[in-house]
Amino acid sequence: MNTNGHRVVVLGGGYTGMLAAIRLAHRTRRAGVRITLVNASDRFTERLRLHQTAAGHRLADHHIPDLLAGTGITFVQGTVTALDPDARAVVLDGGAARLDYDTLVYALGSATDTGLVPGADVHAFTLNGPRAAADLAARAREVAAAGGTITVCGGGLTGVEAATELAEAHPGAHVTLISHAEPGAMMGTRARAYLYRALDRLGVTVRTGVRVTKVLPGAVELEGGEVVASDACLWTTGVKVPALAADAGIAVDDRGLILVDETLRSVSHPSVHAIGDTAAIRMAWGQIHGTCQSGLPTAQYTGDAIARLLRGRAVKPFRFGYYHQPVSLGRRDAVIQFTYADDTPRRVYLKGRAAVLYKEFVSSSPLKFYRISKRFNISVTPSKGGRVTLPKRAARTRHDDAARTRHDDAARTRRDDAARTRRDDAARTRRDDAARTRRDDAARTRRDDAARTRNGSPA
Ligand SMILES: Cc1cc2nc3c(=O)[nH]c(=O)nc-3n(C[C@H](O)[C@H](O)[C@H](O)COP(=O)(O)OP(=O)(O)OC[C@H]3O[C@@H](n4cnc5c(N)ncnc54)[C@H](O)[C@@H]3O)c2cc1C
Repeated sequence: MNTNGHRVVVLGGGYTGMLAAIRLAHRTRRAGVRITLVNASDRFTERLRLHQTAAGHRLADHHIPDLLAGTGITFVQGTVTALDPDARAVVLDGGAARLDYDTLVYALGSATDTGLVPGADVHAFTLNGPRAAADLAARAREVAAAGGTITVCGGGLTGVEAATELAEAHPGAHVTLISHAEPGAMMGTRARAYLYRALDRLGVTVRTGVRVTKVLPGAVELEGGEVVASDACLWTTGVKVPALAADAGIAVDDRGLILVDETLRSVSHPSVHAIGDTAAIRMAWGQIHGTCQSGLPTAQYTGDAIARLLRGRAVKPFRFGYYHQPVSLGRRDAVIQFTYADDTPRRVYLKGRAAVLYKEFVSSSPLKFYRISKRFNISVTPSKGGRVTLPKRAARTRHDDAARTRHDDAARTRRDDAARTRRDDAARTRRDDAARTRRDDAARTRRDDAARTRNGSPA
């Protein structure tokens, strides 16, 4: 393939679009490929930190053109309003501009879905961007000053991070986390127990097993009709992706995610590569769910894959395995659950100070990856799933671990039982000895009294 003048347009300057563009630019630096990155804002949004913004913390400002400096990538600020994949064109700002491409990288991300219950789109706050998070920060300050209630709807990791962050920043507010599923449900028992202790320590009221059916001004309504006072409601549950791909006739699943083959190319339009939250990617163990952890590897892979395709080389299938669930619990605490490739929990987890440092490393690493990737092809994929992604191996490992856990639990129970029996025996012996002493004393007293009576002396 003649790469000279090949036009690659990357849609979305979020976590994945940025990395895919920079990686491809470095891989094709002498090949004459023209790369354009389009984003609605010229600021890079650190979505991983938006709960910090919501709690009133100021984040560093990252300017996309600065982050791309020296890469040769052209940055276009604009909102993508339509795609024409058959003509290989992108329409910006309702027709104000048009970009033609040979290869498209679709990385437009996702947002919280406020269309799930009535009123959420009007009365609830979201973490859908810096402005939305800043609006919540302003309202949270007012609510805290008045001693009011902030409800966080959704007990996923974003909900937990937001609830703990808000509770820590605003001790004057009453924070309630409302969730149908148990918060931290995907974590192991010990990490989840730690998470619950943190929620408790920060005074967050947790209501599980309930669904919010309506968001009202000043309250949320639960299934069954109960109304819970809420001076500010943060909606974190449900995710939606832009309808642009579906509207353009690109094959999508029932949630609007682009259906891709094993090289992350659209099954209906192979010139379109989909990455990050917008792609429906299946691994041996199931479908990837949108995280930065999985998104960055899709970006690295796609940057490399496009470079190889342009050189006429074959591309190996994409492989990925999860390895952790990092959760901040305010600024001073965190818990990290390490996982199997399919995101089920391992036995190992981190907590406290070590977890805080780990989480900060995770949150700050994308920007470091961009800087390094301008010059080196570093890997941002710690786990391709390894042998555990092979179905037989995965089953065996989990089976072995489950058996080990059962064995350890049984041994612990036996030890506890034995200790309890020893304690009970000792207590019983002490009780018996005391009773015997009392009986002996009483008998001795009776004998002495009887002897004194026989001898005629007064008692
Ligand atoms: C509060 C919070 C905490 C999180 N914590 C974690 C975590 O700890 N670990 C983890 O792995 N994941 C976490 N996530 C999820 C993670 O942020 C996403 O999975 C990740 O951002 C996906 O990257 P992306 O590139 O697909 O999308 P984004 O990073 O969202 O990038 C999409 C970009 O496209 C732009 N865009 C969208 N539509 C248009 C349009 N029409 N025209 C032009 N530009 C457009 C957006 O402005 C944005 O810049 C968290 C998310 C939130 C909200």
